[in-house]
Amino acid sequence: MLRRVIGVSNLQSSSLLLSSATALATSARCAGVDLLSPISKLGQSSDLAQSIKDGRARNNKDIVATFETIENIDKVHYRSSSRPWDLVPKYAKRRVSDMCGMLNSADRMEIEQTIDKMQSICDVDMYVVIVPTVGYMSSRAFANSIFHDWAIGEPKGNGLLLVIAQQEATVHLVPSLAIEEYFDTQFLDPVVKTIFQPLIREGKASYATVQLVYAIARQAHEVRDMWKKGFLPVPYRNKVRFGVKAVNYGFTHVPYLVVGSLFMVFCTVALIQQVLDTMCPKCNSFMNRVEDLELRKKIMTSGQFLEHQNECAYYRVWKCAKCHEGTNVVLISRDLHQSSKCLQCMDCNYYTCNLTSSVEKLPTKHEDGLKKLLYECHNCRIGREIMLPLFRPMDAKPNEQWYSFLVDQSQSHKKAQVDLKL
Ligand SMILES: [Zn+2]
Ligand SMILES: [Zn+2]
Repeated sequence: MLRRVIGVSNLQSSSLLLSSATALATSARCAGVDLLSPISKLGQSSDLAQSIKDGRARNNKDIVATFETIENIDKVHYRSSSRPWDLVPKYAKRRVSDMCGMLNSADRMEIEQTIDKMQSICDVDMYVVIVPTVGYMSSRAFANSIFHDWAIGEPKGNGLLLVIAQQEATVHLVPSLAIEEYFDTQFLDPVVKTIFQPLIREGKASYATVQLVYAIARQAHEVRDMWKKGFLPVPYRNKVRFGVKAVNYGFTHVPYLVVGSLFMVFCTVALIQQVLDTMCPKCNSFMNRVEDLELRKKIMTSGQFLEHQNECAYYRVWKCAKCHEGTNVVLISRDLHQSSKCLQCMDCNYYTCNLTSSVEKLPTKHEDGLKKLLYECHNCRIGREIMLPLFRPMDAKPNEQWYSFLVDQSQSHKKAQVDLKL
């Protein structure tokens, strides 16, 4: 997914189970509370066992049974849908969509008011969604899908979405890309662990949600000046970051697609370029290729023609048959592998220079030699002469004669003989 998602998962399922007791008491529509989940049947924690005992003690088996059927219908509904996030309605004037009746009406009103204040003071567009389950997808993908489908914070880039999934026991906060660094895991994790989770454990699910929204509002109030300061204004920052993420996603997830499409774009541009080359600049009709040498000579400049004659470059020549005026000369390829011909002239810039080198004087033992390089342009008839020295070899022992080494050897030979005699 492109959107950044922050998730804190695995609030203990027992805590949500405990919260079911209050939800049961306060709300008429109690779908999604997880009283009879497989885990609770196993009785893995003392909390779970206690809760089940309490439930039995209160003798409300009928309610639990009714509740269970509602819950199952709801879950089946979410799981049978390939787009479970579509089941959450977006209300025109409400910021809270509580699909499992976790909030009591007073708390829901409080959250609505808090979000309205946030909007007017901090300019943040926030929504709260509470669902019994996210179906067969990850809570993170579910949250992202709602954020994307509802276009939260568009086009300002100031959106925030809080998704609480009861069955999965997860809390997700999806911020717009422009403000994502202020609502990341480093912010959400301690808030959920110190505020939300303890209250849930006490069975105050509704109150816990209110406090969570307050914590987010405090954070928004604290950092609102920081995100307005940035180099780019928030809406543009949002778009730029989205673009960067999209490109990143492309290169990391579908690199072949990106390379392929870039290649296609390149081919298309080259093709269009070629077609445009054949259009007459005067009357915009298609031109004819010119192969006749005399005609080519008239159309091409002398430098181009010389290059073509010397096989230093290959040109395609077009002439309009309609208006007889429009012409076009297109360079197709150039021979750059020559070292003595097809060199670029410094005066006319055509590749019409030849290079000849000749040794004027060989170096001797006491004097440097001389080499002459002659650059000759056949187009502008300008020649350049460059004289280069041919350095004499380094003389390490200037006093020695060329035959000295022979003398040396004979001397050492004699010495060796003398040594032997001794
Ligand atoms: Zn024409
Ligand atoms: Zn020249």
